[in-house]
Amino acid sequence: MKRKTNKSRINYNQYLNCIFGRLKLVKILDEMSNDGRLLALVECDCGNEKKTPIRNLIKGVTKSCGCFNKEQIIKRNTKHGFAKVGNIDKIYSVLMGMKQRCYYKKHKDYHNYGGRGITVCDEWRKDFTKFYKWCLDNGYKKGLEIDRRNNDGNYSPDNCRFVTHQINSLNRRKRIDNTSGYIGITCHKINKLYSCQINYKNKKILYKSGFKTAREAAIVRNEYIIENNLPHKLNVVGLLNLESRLC
Ligand SMILES: [Zn+2]
Repeated sequence: MKRKTNKSRINYNQYLNCIFGRLKLVKILDEMSNDGRLLALVECDCGNEKKTPIRNLIKGVTKSCGCFNKEQIIKRNTKHGFAKVGNIDKIYSVLMGMKQRCYYKKHKDYHNYGGRGITVCDEWRKDFTKFYKWCLDNGYKKGLEIDRRNNDGNYSPDNCRFVTHQINSLNRRKRIDNTSGYIGITCHKINKLYSCQINYKNKKILYKSGFKTAREAAIVRNEYIIENNLPHKLNVVGLLNLESRLC
């Protein structure tokens, strides 16, 4: 016979929204585990949700969705193989950051990522070692940040690269500030013509004006970036309907 739940009058509601390790208790469920313990719904820092017995949380037995243990295993398995441990920690936190922005609804930047449909590709999401190897093969260095070339694209091998923090924030800032909807493209207030511009290392290295549409200006800017192999973010110009949405 299954053991009945412990009917002691613990008011579990007091634990709502409390943090246990990486987990936050978001809801007390009307549901028991197989061995008769009351379950709660928890959200993990990594973005996963899961059900777990409340008492395991309170006792400190369960501290993550399982991601913590996975990390430890990865560390153990990769330490001797192909890496310095310091790198693994840093690269793991890069992946965690991506997952949080894309899947953890309460992350402060979620609206710019998961909220816009940006995802982390399956390969990386499910297998840290694949991401890890990609990082080392693609110029990862301590202090660099992961960047998506196409701001509307996902975190995936073909859309990502490592850039300095300065470049990353430059790209982000331009996007927020300007009015054309394109990075580095502005519209002249009086003649309504567009110009494109690129600044690099405190110098204006490209300035062209007189474009009738923002898209034309964006194409010229993109070409310049590609030709000169610059670290700047490209504008998405492929979709014509984007034009009407952004301008
Ligand atoms: Zn987790």
